[in-house]
Amino acid sequence: SLTAGVVAVQGDVEEHAAAIERAAAARDREVTVREIRESGLIPDCDLLAMPGGESTTISRLVRDEEIAPEIRAHVAAGKPLLATCAGLIVASSDPNDDRVDQLGLLDVSVERNAFGRQKDSFEAPLEVDGLDEPYPAVFIRAPAIDSVGDAEVLAAWDDRPVAVRQGPVVGTSFHPELTPDSRIHSLAFFENEAARVPGLEESR
Ligand code: GLN
Repeated sequence: SLTAGVVAVQGDVEEHAAAIERAAAARDREVTVREIRESGLIPDCDLLAMPGGESTTISRLVRDEEIAPEIRAHVAAGKPLLATCAGLIVASSDPNDDRVDQLGLLDVSVERNAFGRQKDSFEAPLEVDGLDEPYPAVFIRAPAIDSVGDAEVLAAWDDRPVAVRQGPVVGTSFHPELTPDSRIHSLAFFENEAARVPGLEESR
């Protein structure tokens, strides 16, 4: 059975846990989801999600609880990480905001709240590389990706990249945990050939 971690200092934690469970069930994989609020748990995780929320708060707590070096080690070991919305900002190499301590796991610079404020939240049918049908993407005070270095763009909205992949890391501006459609979680965890997941090689 796989172990998944959801960084749970703030944000849509239960929704991510449910999406991971749906994506795993669709592949007949068993998964146990753990909420990560302290260091020492990530080394046992095969998959990791970092949710949306408030990027300044998430980055501060991840740093103060010494979770940050474990997330870096997870990715360095080739294990998959899905970073969504505020999680994408924290995972980026340049958040364009001094209050965010970035992890530098995705070689992108981002602009916080680039698609407007809360009232401007919207859902868009997004064409995503690797998905046959458009994905119903929910954007909430979403960041845009301004420039992309080594990362690969998987989707764009309004001519701005909103989903990227770099090795085992997938980042999205939108919230794939907020719709019943678990294809983005599948893409990040079970269909990314650059990521190592135990027992996956034979089923891929
Ligand atoms: N606006 C938030 C931030 O910049 C991100 C929004 C979200 O995660 N829904 O941290």
